[in-house]
Amino acid sequence: MATLIKGGRIVTAIDDYVGDILIEDGKVRTLGQDLPAEGGVDVHDASGLLVMPGAVDVHTHLDWEFGTARTVDTFGTGTMAAAFGGTTSVIDFANQRHGESPLEGLEDWHRRCASRCVDVGAHMIILDPFPQALADLRALAQDEGVTSFKLFMAYPNVLMVDDGVCFYVMREAAKHGAVVCVHAENGYAINILVEEAVKAGNLAPKYHYLTRPPELEGEATARAITLAEYAGAPLYVVHVTCSQALDAVARARDRSDLIHGETCTQYLFLTQQELERPGFHGAKYVFTPPLRSQEHQDELWRGLHRGDLSAVSTDHCPFCFEEEPHGLKFSKRQGEKEGFHKIPNGGPGIEHRIPVLFDGAVKKRGMSLNRFVELVATNPAKLFGIYPKKGTIAVGSDADIVLFDPEQRWTIRAAEQHSRVDYSLFEGFEVQGRVKKTFLRGDLIVDGDQWLGREGMGAFLKRGESGRL
Ligand SMILES: [Zn+2]
Repeated sequence: MATLIKGGRIVTAIDDYVGDILIEDGKVRTLGQDLPAEGGVDVHDASGLLVMPGAVDVHTHLDWEFGTARTVDTFGTGTMAAAFGGTTSVIDFANQRHGESPLEGLEDWHRRCASRCVDVGAHMIILDPFPQALADLRALAQDEGVTSFKLFMAYPNVLMVDDGVCFYVMREAAKHGAVVCVHAENGYAINILVEEAVKAGNLAPKYHYLTRPPELEGEATARAITLAEYAGAPLYVVHVTCSQALDAVARARDRSDLIHGETCTQYLFLTQQELERPGFHGAKYVFTPPLRSQEHQDELWRGLHRGDLSAVSTDHCPFCFEEEPHGLKFSKRQGEKEGFHKIPNGGPGIEHRIPVLFDGAVKKRGMSLNRFVELVATNPAKLFGIYPKKGTIAVGSDADIVLFDPEQRWTIRAAEQHSRVDYSLFEGFEVQGRVKKTFLRGDLIVDGDQWLGREGMGAFLKRGESGRL
């Protein structure tokens, strides 16, 4: 079964030309111009459309138990939402559980992600560093295709590990071709600020950002970088949100190609003011690190422009605002009576990253199309060991392809999204640019507003060496 995509403007991180793509057996077979549509080939006219590699989102939490709450998207619904947003590869977070090997955590994750509709890989969160657990890092990277380990410097007693564990895991990662991803905030200091706020009766959602100041993200980012540089390990700082953290990443990148920073869509378009919305609606914007002021947001845009940031992901970690719309017991409302510290931390975004960033970056700020593709597809694929199978359009690559109308204007509405979450961070955003068709390994899975994919059709991404561009 062959497919021919004709006459679109093909854009990768380096190319930009009008041409045709012949797909066979799920892979890009031929790139050219005026390719013949021979016997039985399925032809898609892409004239007037951008033809881009399926986007890669390396930061999602699907069907994930976090503290007392569970994210509301299954792998089925979350990856369907991804596909409608032009994302065809997702790297999600598996986690070790206390007292268990990370290999057991991976088995559990494999069970949960069987319903995936696009291709999915796993990072492994390390949180209990007993000797056998640390010895299993080699097997994760070399046998299981899990070539990234996530460490939390925040959330003491839940997810946080100490600096010794960070350093040890970094050295192991360097030995086994893996990268360490860090959530960089000073968890101990933040806990003190949170306790003080709660004791003083300061319980509104806005105290979430007031108790997690940018200085404490900057401190932890610099500390993680120092440890990684001394360990000789590649480091990927997830969700950089502020100038302090960005400065640390930028300085490190002057010295080394091993240090990378990511930001997420929401930090580029929203500010901490959202947490002050009346009627507890600020809770929708409670995620960690928090939204920052306009000055920090401006710095992040400069960071993208200068190349100090290497990728834009979503940190899709959806909790409903209202209680129990899907039979799940925990929602943002949990924090309404007891305080901001009980609001499940996380927000949705998997479905809207591409149109929101295309409109904001390419249309409104003049970012090149090549740089756009690099940030949402090529760099993430390279940094996490799935390039050039994913993240580009090249002969032999998987035919994960998005046809995108760069002119169509539309308004983002949660009521029309495919994620199970009951709100959007970008509600009411009027954007230019919309996904028209999404192909996963040659199969048309999204056609306008029609869903043609099916649960279980996504493959597991067994990844190679990670942490480098
Ligand atoms: Zn996250």
